[in-house]
Amino acid sequence: MMKRISILCLALLLALFYSFTEHHQEQVDFSRMERRMLHIPTAGLFDHYDYFTVAPSDMRRDGWCLPVEDGVLFTPEFPHETVGWYIMSPEPRHEVKAAMEGVVRLVRKTNLGKTVVVLHPNGMETVYAHHAKTLVSSGDYVSAGQPVALAGADHGMVYTYFTMMVNGVPLNPSTLVRPDGTLKDEMAVFSLGGDGMVRVSLCAIGAVAERAPRFDWMETPAVVDLDRPFSAMERQHVGVATPGLFEHASSFTVDLARVGKWSYPLPGAKVISPYGGKRKNHTGTDLKTRPKDKIRAVFDGVVRFSGKYSAYGNMVVVRHANGLETCYSHNAKNLVKAGDRVKAGDAIATVGRTGRATTEHCHFEVRVNGVPFNSDYIFDHANHVLKNGMLTFTRKANGRISIKAE
Ligand SMILES: [Zn+2]
Repeated sequence: MMKRISILCLALLLALFYSFTEHHQEQVDFSRMERRMLHIPTAGLFDHYDYFTVAPSDMRRDGWCLPVEDGVLFTPEFPHETVGWYIMSPEPRHEVKAAMEGVVRLVRKTNLGKTVVVLHPNGMETVYAHHAKTLVSSGDYVSAGQPVALAGADHGMVYTYFTMMVNGVPLNPSTLVRPDGTLKDEMAVFSLGGDGMVRVSLCAIGAVAERAPRFDWMETPAVVDLDRPFSAMERQHVGVATPGLFEHASSFTVDLARVGKWSYPLPGAKVISPYGGKRKNHTGTDLKTRPKDKIRAVFDGVVRFSGKYSAYGNMVVVRHANGLETCYSHNAKNLVKAGDRVKAGDAIATVGRTGRATTEHCHFEVRVNGVPFNSDYIFDHANHVLKNGMLTFTRKANGRISIKAE
């Protein structure tokens, strides 16, 4: 009895704690349909690419855990659902925990009993059902291992129904997870077929060329308004301050792990001249592939400038909602014009040697408030991947901007 009361107190304290802290976490407002329907496509999941990948190393790093501690897998005599796991709990009202961090999408009674669905930053969903009680609400952020429900009982058996989903399509956890709860070592590739169905294939890590796209809905909040029309200065010059950037605070942060969709500016390129360089005056990173290769927008954004710009030759400048601007120059041809909306990965120009350039390459710059900074803060150029840290840009009293990476 005492034990039950202390568990109840703990649950209450936890509930209080989470209701207190949840508004500090990111909130996702799901539509009424998303809050009601178990099987519903995930908004944005296949917007930019028709496939995405989930690596077990990322899942482990994000704190993967089996939802029922000391649980036992079993197959019921008359399974009404065959694509999930029935996990027997060691005791009634045993805690059922989120397998990975995410945001609770659905909490309601379904044909599986009281059900919780969590959408994860990697694009997958996990489903927990057959509960005595749910402990979370739609929109709540949950960390990996955080209790989401208490297991329910049926004919004297306490169990949880656990499954995964991708785009609303059930995925047997056995695809990715061994019966002992540990993750398999292959990478999962989820692709959207022409019929709208999701297919999963497993492949060895490294078998997917370059870095395959990963889904991420936890985007860094916008710090600049991309709908604001450009002034004549902004349309004619590259190094101009970004209106609104330091309007409300003297600093802002770009969380590269949550920047949303991204692309390397020139896939397959080699750095032939780094930022700074021998004379410390190189304001960009020179990327070399073959002439006429397509240059890609690094993040979603709006083209602020597209045209000839003295020694830069043909240049494209893209403003991003995260507060940064990216510049691509010496282009053979610009494929976009000022005012165009671009998505990460869109082809915006082709590689050339216009302006002052001795070979075909892309002089790539990242800028904050019009001032170039080292793109090594953003990209691991050796591996063509985005870095993972947080960048904080602070405008000092003298107007200069400092960058802190953590
Ligand atoms: Zn250069």
